[in-house]
Amino acid sequence: MLDVQRVREDFPILKRQVNGKPLVYLDNAATSQKPRAVIDALVSYYENTNANIHRGIHTLAEEATREYEEARAKVARFIGARSARSIVFVRNTTEAINIVAWTWGRTSLKPGDEIVVTEAEHHSNLVPWHLITEQTGAAIRAIPITDEGTLDLDAARRIIGPQTKLVAVAHMSNVLGTIHPVAELGRLAHAQGAKLLVDGAQSVPHLSTDVNDLDCDFLAFSGHKMLGPTGVGVLYAKTELLESLDPLFGGGGMIREVYLDHSTWADVPERFEAGTPNIGDVIALGTAVDYLSTVGMDNVRAHELAITTYALEKLHEQREVRLFGPSDPGLRGGVVSFYYADVHPHDVSTIVDQEGVAIRAGHHCCQPLMKRLGVPATVRASFYLYNTDEEVDVFTRSLNLVRGIFSGAGVR
Ligand code: PMP
Repeated sequence: MLDVQRVREDFPILKRQVNGKPLVYLDNAATSQKPRAVIDALVSYYENTNANIHRGIHTLAEEATREYEEARAKVARFIGARSARSIVFVRNTTEAINIVAWTWGRTSLKPGDEIVVTEAEHHSNLVPWHLITEQTGAAIRAIPITDEGTLDLDAARRIIGPQTKLVAVAHMSNVLGTIHPVAELGRLAHAQGAKLLVDGAQSVPHLSTDVNDLDCDFLAFSGHKMLGPTGVGVLYAKTELLESLDPLFGGGGMIREVYLDHSTWADVPERFEAGTPNIGDVIALGTAVDYLSTVGMDNVRAHELAITTYALEKLHEQREVRLFGPSDPGLRGGVVSFYYADVHPHDVSTIVDQEGVAIRAGHHCCQPLMKRLGVPATVRASFYLYNTDEEVDVFTRSLNLVRGIFSGAGVR
């Protein structure tokens, strides 16, 4: 069981006030807050260890290299990867998916081939494929979402066929919260000789993740959504697949030998980490992974399931609220999206901010999904291990303000 009050003590920002009220941070799907240990890891790196890695043979360079590579090993263990060589450090999920598009996609796709996505994808798992299909002549197909906000698996079985070369899907929707059956999609993809790319931006921070269970060929995720710093993310790929790919970026650190007219590549993962990497942030991501591992991802999930169940109950009580996504909390993570009567989500967000409540309003980088839902935008509250039922109460009570203002009364 997770001791939320103890966990909260670890997050300095949770002590601050916003508009004179205690901060209620419910925008975790956008980015998470950072525990003291992660902030300390960053400061300690710059105070004690700062040096460029891999090529130096002085003490600081060796220490920085060791800490950087230890972070790689921690991340590998965290997602069950058999080898740390499968882990490439990148900036974020977006960069990871773009790298797959421009390495594997550019050389593997041709006219007649298809990339299968879903209607619920984040733009970062759509736009890179738009760019690459323009280059290669391949096409994109989307698995529809049911009215319940789940994936239409019968349609998936019809859509994934011999022409499919890649199934690229988010494990958890950042709008509906739906946890998609990615392992099942992987079986369908692999039966056709296609690859499976999992966008783990919302799942890796919240669900225990094992790349062997998912049998994914690629997994992309961001450090900043899992208690780590911004500016560091991860591309996991099966080692032999990674080894078969040419680099995207050329420069220092990714070569074996360089001549004036050509070069040869370093082994993986260095082949994909050209130039000086984000050393301090990678090391701090390692600390974030330690933190989550100590808490236990099953505890994180159990806590989020409980708080999401509670939030859905409270929101159901408000007749102005039109909820999206599965009604069964077991099918979803800690993300709750809704539309509040005829009030624009931006207005809802601005009003609850007066009560110290941070939520998100907008299309959440999912314009095709907004069209499917028939709304311009949604209000989204998203939870993490430090959120409490009391915070859900503050949030749902603050919605009364919205009702008050928009009914013309202006009172609670
Ligand atoms: N995919 C999903 C499902 C996301 O929720 C996000 C972040 N909102 C991303 C991709 C992109 O993450 P980043 O901005 O860190 O690259």
